[in-house]
Amino acid sequence: MEDIKRVAEIIKERGNVVAFTGAGISVESGIPTFRGAQGLWERYDPDEYAHISSFLRNPEKVWMMLREMAQVIFQAKPSPAHEALSELEKMGYLRAVITQNVDGLHHLAGNKNVIEYHGNHRWLVCPSCREKTPFTQDVLGIYPYPRCERCERALKPDVVFFGENIPFDAMIRANEEAKSCKVMIIIGTSGVVYPAAEIPYISKSQGAVIVEMNIERTPFTNSITDYFFPGSASTYLPQIVRLLS
Ligand code: NAD
Repeated sequence: MEDIKRVAEIIKERGNVVAFTGAGISVESGIPTFRGAQGLWERYDPDEYAHISSFLRNPEKVWMMLREMAQVIFQAKPSPAHEALSELEKMGYLRAVITQNVDGLHHLAGNKNVIEYHGNHRWLVCPSCREKTPFTQDVLGIYPYPRCERCERALKPDVVFFGENIPFDAMIRANEEAKSCKVMIIIGTSGVVYPAAEIPYISKSQGAVIVEMNIERTPFTNSITDYFFPGSASTYLPQIVRLLS
């Protein structure tokens, strides 16, 4: 409790908070991490299902996995941790959320400045002409997969597959936010997916206080983290909001 009070004081004094989130923040929303026991990678080999070359070679096969993932995402609701981040933005403390998640839950919770480093599964994009359309429930009924109305190619969710680049705009904005924030809160990420995992190190090198919330220790914990909270972000973030209210 003492540490959480101290972090609330630091946020009050410094402001300029950026949250860096990963799959862990959405577990309580009903979306398992990919790597865990119930994760997608237990049943689908990422090399076969999550690489852009696999998608281009055999979209029908990859769409079997994408349909399953979309159903999980469509049912998910923001967790208390998502809601608390939205509250911190409204209170003027949180400047941005940089997320590796593709579930769109930060937007649903009400955050306005969200940088989606790996894209958003609620949109579809044509790999050829780059035309984007919303990924709605109806799309799940289109077999074997939805096609671009302009060029007939198989549409894919607007997320970064292995072998694809990080969207340029997201990368530039994330680096700027990371450089200028005064407090970074790292939430529910294993810190092993690069280049995303570089972001907290940028903040630390510019003097930001690093706060981390995770049920396990990560490569950040012993290297750059100043305050580590072992457990769910849905326990700690609402406490911070209450202390700042
Ligand atoms: P990861 O699966 O590598 O790590 C998840 C981390 O969350 C782990 O360190 C775990 O200990 C922690 N965690 C689990 N439950 C938690 C909880 N209740 N509170 C706090 N922490 C908790 O995830 P990653 O680091 O985000 O990297 C995986 C990649 O997979 C990401 O780039 C992301 O695009 C993608 N992914 C996205 C979603 C999503 O959009 N919800 C889900 C799974 C994977």
